[in-house]
Amino acid sequence: MEFQKNQVYEITIEDIGAEGEGIGKVDGFPLFVKDAVAGDAVRVKITKAKKNYAFARLEEILTPSPDRVTPPCPFHRQCGGCQIQALSYPVQLQFKERKLRNDLLRIGGFTKELLDQVTGQVIGMEEPWHYRNKAQYPFGMSEDNTPITGFYAGRTHHIIANTDCLLGAPENQVVLQKVLAFIQNAGISIYDENENTGLLRHVLIRKSRSEGTLMVCLIINGKKLPQQEILIQELTQIPGITSISINHNREKTNAIMGSQTKTIWGEDTIRDTLRLWEKNKEPLQEDTEYHLTDLSVSYRISPNSFYQVNPEQAERLYSLVLEYAGLTGKETVWDLYCGIGTISLFLAQRAKKVYGVEIVPQAIEDARQNALDNQISNAEFYVGKAEEVLPAWHEKTAEHTDVIVVDPPRKGCDETCLETMLRMQPDKIIYVSCDPATLARDLKILCRHSYQLEKVRPVDLFGQTVHVETVCLLQKKNI
Ligand code: SAH
Repeated sequence: MEFQKNQVYEITIEDIGAEGEGIGKVDGFPLFVKDAVAGDAVRVKITKAKKNYAFARLEEILTPSPDRVTPPCPFHRQCGGCQIQALSYPVQLQFKERKLRNDLLRIGGFTKELLDQVTGQVIGMEEPWHYRNKAQYPFGMSEDNTPITGFYAGRTHHIIANTDCLLGAPENQVVLQKVLAFIQNAGISIYDENENTGLLRHVLIRKSRSEGTLMVCLIINGKKLPQQEILIQELTQIPGITSISINHNREKTNAIMGSQTKTIWGEDTIRDTLRLWEKNKEPLQEDTEYHLTDLSVSYRISPNSFYQVNPEQAERLYSLVLEYAGLTGKETVWDLYCGIGTISLFLAQRAKKVYGVEIVPQAIEDARQNALDNQISNAEFYVGKAEEVLPAWHEKTAEHTDVIVVDPPRKGCDETCLETMLRMQPDKIIYVSCDPATLARDLKILCRHSYQLEKVRPVDLFGQTVHVETVCLLQKKNI
């Protein structure tokens, strides 16, 4: 097949790819079309021709798919954030279940029969908009040389000016407008990532769902923010602001934050509370599987610490972890990649002892403080790499570990970490994953040895996007 640039085709989109793109065929050869939805009949123009496939731009929707909805955000096609906003929410959930299943089949090597048996239905969001408690906006200059903020266009660092993201808190807009006005008035320079010059790089805004408070952190390429008192004066007029800080990042890097943060007004952290859901003993009604309990844990979060962006769904996720752990109060549990101790402190309420390990020192400081704040005395936290702290601990102690929970970043677990877990032989391993491909790769290693996949359950934390979050339970085989 010879695809050529600028050729125009009329095709029907048959499938959806891992990044949310539509996939159609010409003479059996695939065409990848961003923004097209399975079921659409479309006219497309080839943008990049390869030997046996091509990428094409959506020119016109001839007949819309029954799964297509009108995306409420005017920037959804340019912005790299919401890849599947044009897909109805129930179909977004089906897409995520399928993506997970395909990875577990293809990469994990699990059988269809087993997956049918162990996979639970995805836990979707009640309201898949305005769910994010955290926003990180980059700054740049517009063509007419005025400072702008917004989002990166897909796969680039080109900024699309937009202060009104429909996934974020409505308060973000007023914070951004105040910061933009301050930049103009104080003549603050904007960071240029090619030259590594200019001062202001990003702003981080966090909102607490339970308290309604706001934290603002400006990330700068320098020591000091000139006229910061004026910024403080402006920002503190916004109701709910409790923390303003400056983070220093002077590296030429894609990482948003540097390691040093200084509070310039108010608190060092923001506080949020997560509640525990429990499975109903007897189903109360046909479709209510869980009920909300009185139990909750409150967390302080530093600007540098990881905290799930969707608290409503995070509490469903952590509640599932606790359910899968099946604790009775006698167990020793490890929580690897523990962040500020979110999962650790849920577990600690039902276990004898919980150990947490996390690489970011600030997050571990938060975790220790969070244990104190919640009067939890059976949780102990270590700063370090999971793949170093866990083997070192296992070498020097004979203590049996009953349950290991892992919640790694997208790249998954380090092999040394997996090997150590296998050597420790806990009764259960609970794997919380934000990337089905690396999850499948790691589960294959664990299940090749002495573990059996017992439960798989996706939880939607990221509506409108292609991201898939999953909790899995592995049980030690009785050999
Ligand atoms: N369980 C926590 C955090 C999950 S995010 C929660 O749900 O809030 C993954 C965490 O792993 C981040 O906090 C990151 O800083 C940490 N991390 C990344 N690499 C690590 C490593 N090699 N060892 C330990 N922690 C690591």
